[in-house]
Amino acid sequence: MIEEIQRIVGRDSVLARPPDLEAYSRDFSDFREKPILVVMPGSSREVQGVVGIAAREGVPVIPRGAGTNTCGQVVGRGLVLDMTRMDRILEVNRRDFYCRVQPGVVLDALNRELEEAGLFFPPDPASSRVCTIGGMVANNSSGPHSMKYGTTRDYVLGLEAVLATGEVIRTGSLARKSSSGYNLTRLLVGSEGTLGVITEVILRVLPVPRARGSRIYTFDSLEGLRRAVDGVLDRTAPAGLEFIDDICLKALKQRYGLDFGDAAFLLAVEFHGGQGWVDRQLEMVGELLGEGVEAGDPWRWRRNLVPALINYRDGARPLAVTEDVSVPVSRVCEAIGKVKAIYSSGGFEVAVYGHGGDGNLHMRVFAAHGEEERVRELAGKVYDYVLSVGGSTTAEHGVGLLRAGYMDKEHGQAMEVMRRIKKVFDPAGIMNPGKMGL
Ligand SMILES: Cc1cc2nc3c(=O)[nH]c(=O)nc-3n(C[C@H](O)[C@H](O)[C@H](O)COP(=O)(O)OP(=O)(O)OC[C@H]3O[C@@H](n4cnc5c(N)ncnc54)[C@H](O)[C@@H]3O)c2cc1C
Repeated sequence: MIEEIQRIVGRDSVLARPPDLEAYSRDFSDFREKPILVVMPGSSREVQGVVGIAAREGVPVIPRGAGTNTCGQVVGRGLVLDMTRMDRILEVNRRDFYCRVQPGVVLDALNRELEEAGLFFPPDPASSRVCTIGGMVANNSSGPHSMKYGTTRDYVLGLEAVLATGEVIRTGSLARKSSSGYNLTRLLVGSEGTLGVITEVILRVLPVPRARGSRIYTFDSLEGLRRAVDGVLDRTAPAGLEFIDDICLKALKQRYGLDFGDAAFLLAVEFHGGQGWVDRQLEMVGELLGEGVEAGDPWRWRRNLVPALINYRDGARPLAVTEDVSVPVSRVCEAIGKVKAIYSSGGFEVAVYGHGGDGNLHMRVFAAHGEEERVRELAGKVYDYVLSVGGSTTAEHGVGLLRAGYMDKEHGQAMEVMRRIKKVFDPAGIMNPGKMGL
């Protein structure tokens, strides 16, 4: 099989040495498994050839971008398809507001190129320096500004995918509107490599906002944060409304010297739009919460939060077990209190941070070696709580292996339909098996 694949992609694009396989045995989760082989295709045709061989041999295919997912989505005993060689921006169309890209394009690189045309692609995961468009599409990624701009799903006009059946399909169109047929584009977005390999994407893009303005506020209590979030959402239309708790504040101070005092919570409010509108929105927030601190780019330090948490405590790791839940927006602060109560009932410290405007909570639980099982038991209670209030087990990071066991609970009978859909795309079940409970 190796020689046949080498003939398709070239010798240098096949990795089979133990150190290479070791490097590809992990992502940003705690899951580990060495793949059988790593292949780096350079074109859609090469992907088709390699997937065809894998299908014939019954070998699982695991598509991979930068490997920054946090839930074991690219870990498994199979053939890893590293898509990072397919990193060309094929077209930027200013007049029709779209771009066409290969899946291995890195998000920040795309936005640098778009900026030259006065455009940007809005979904903004904190991993933007390295994560790929293919990974974002397959995960329906988003970030702090999704309350204004939406998630990756809202920007994918169409795509090309290679299926395990050997078919290459093109979905969607360059047009903004279409009522034609089932929406296979939306089905493939968020499919985590379980339905096919995405080889090209058409993305809608927007003009860069003319002005941005932000303020930072701190609060002594959860109740203070709740009143502020409710007030801001009631009176203004922010692009981002980011909160972090006291543990995050201590970690940022310890690692980067950022000092926001001894507050229990910090809230960053950001507006995008015309200068006059942004100024008026900041005024309205000022009337509600006071002067605050001019935040500059509040996401600069937010992007560095996870590394700060990783280094925060000696002898305890910040586990990412329930790190990406979502609840209805009105329940965000209730959810913060609930999550802290659940983990502290087991004696664990938890750092909570997230996007106040779209109900997305992130959290990291500090646990020493050997305590992981107890954390996982409490994680079940957190998932039960978010589902009981109409939320979801994952807002933007995806399911992977981490949340696979909760899919039936979250989706009920709809999960059976997902299993049947999977069979249509991938009858032999070779596409990223085990992920998403499929
Ligand atoms: C520090 C840090 C911060 C993060 N912040 C955010 C955040 O703010 N918001 C957010 O949404 N996520 C965040 N993430 C998670 C992750 O970075 C994103 O989900 C990202 O979009 C994954 O991109 P990737 O290229 O690393 O994909 P990978 O991790 O390589 O893959 C992710 C999934 O996509 C599939 N896939 C990749 N390429 C293809 C393809 N061509 N065809 C089919 N399937 C494919 C894989 O099989 C896998 O299921 C963060 C991660 C880290 C480590």
